[in-house]
Amino acid sequence: MNKKVAIIGAGISGLSLGYYLSKKKLDVTVFEKEKEVGGLLSTIEVDKSIRIEKFYHHVFPSDKEFIELFDKLGISEDLRWYKSSNSIFVDNKFLPFSKISDYLKFPELNLLSKIRLLVGGYILSKKKLTSIDKLKAEIAIKKYMGKKSWDKIWGPLFYKKFGEDTKDILASWFWWRLNAKLGSSGKEILGYPKGGFSKFIKVIIKEILNNGGKIVSNVAIKKVFRNKGGYEVNGDHFDNVFFTIPATEINKIYNNAKVEEIKYKAAINLILVLKNVQTKWYWNNIPELDIPFVGVIEHTNLVGRNDYNNKTVLYLTQYIDKKDITYINTDDEIFKKYKKYFKEIGILDSNIVSYFVSVSDYAQPVLIKKPTRVGFQKIDKNMYKISMEDIYPEDRGINQAIKYAKQLADIIS
Ligand SMILES: Cc1cc2nc3c(=O)[nH]c(=O)nc-3n(C[C@H](O)[C@H](O)[C@H](O)COP(=O)(O)OP(=O)(O)OC[C@H]3O[C@@H](n4cnc5c(N)ncnc54)[C@H](O)[C@@H]3O)c2cc1C
Repeated sequence: MNKKVAIIGAGISGLSLGYYLSKKKLDVTVFEKEKEVGGLLSTIEVDKSIRIEKFYHHVFPSDKEFIELFDKLGISEDLRWYKSSNSIFVDNKFLPFSKISDYLKFPELNLLSKIRLLVGGYILSKKKLTSIDKLKAEIAIKKYMGKKSWDKIWGPLFYKKFGEDTKDILASWFWWRLNAKLGSSGKEILGYPKGGFSKFIKVIIKEILNNGGKIVSNVAIKKVFRNKGGYEVNGDHFDNVFFTIPATEINKIYNNAKVEEIKYKAAINLILVLKNVQTKWYWNNIPELDIPFVGVIEHTNLVGRNDYNNKTVLYLTQYIDKKDITYINTDDEIFKKYKKYFKEIGILDSNIVSYFVSVSDYAQPVLIKKPTRVGFQKIDKNMYKISMEDIYPEDRGINQAIKYAKQLADIIS
């Protein structure tokens, strides 16, 4: 008889694991607490026939496992590659921040500091991981790219992402991002599927169902018990259990394994649909500490407005502590709070068509030490965990979720 397996969480980790295990003829059930599956990659209709991810998303050319899976699912012709563009908000203006010539014009640094920023950034990106993986990001950036660039650029951006944990963030986190962003071509190229990630999710679901698997949404798993050599989940017996949720949540559900917990930052993404183009760039960094969001990500400046009824779609993104009071505010209150800063960054009321607020408790693991196990972890007999907190040296990502789901599925029979 085929082994019965329960997967808890239908984000991209749970769905890809469901796909790989159901292909191996295991009897798979994926449980999801929300009505919609997809987790952080799930989508929402923000305006008439404009469907977009609740949180900004793109992929990198180096995302091998993602590209392979897209191909296997027969949707690779949907994946489009675009040249990205960046800016930085300084003195109430967005300034281009993509090319060497942009960096050389950056007004907040003198020539020597600009050269250090560029040359040091290049040297740091080429370092072997083993030579920097004991360093903290702040120390490494100051050492290679100069204290001034830390003070004016990286320090505030780190602080807006990691708050008081900034000083403890590993250098490897920054090193990986430098390498992923630049890629082998030295240009920042990003991928996004035509029409968004919703088709990708639909196709994976279809494959799981075709392979005999089940997806049970709108059911939060509250407890998992040991039962007859296996486990009881939602009143059913399973031979294997796979958690794809943070350790903090696993420990509430299953008492027998004390999984090491990792701190996370929560995130708020305010999606705005606008009549007109807002900025000239895709990724607009906001190092100003008195503005709550760290970035304005103008999605339609990456992929164009054609698929979005000729409207602009952008994300204002903020990373916060869960305990932060902002977090418990209603969508309207969050919108109003952000609105106070719209004038400063040039968003006119008359340009706004609609908005949508997304919040996630578990948005960014705060990695202050190298995880003891990378990828997946066995937490009890026939019980495993994969989640974005066990990824190293890369940052959380769609590709990493797929990669480790595949590696885990390979060892299960
Ligand atoms: C703001 C933001 C921007 C990002 N941008 C990018 C990007 O550009 N590129 C990129 O590659 N990655 C990006 N990521 C990261 C990427 O979204 C994640 O790495 C990936 O989606 C994680 O998938 P997951 O399945 O591991 O986790 P999740 O998506 O969190 O899925 C976990 C699922 O488990 C469910 N669940 C939790 N508890 C229970 C329970 N008790 N019972 C049942 N179900 C439960 C949750 O509802 C959720 O659906 C971004 C993330 C954020 C927050």
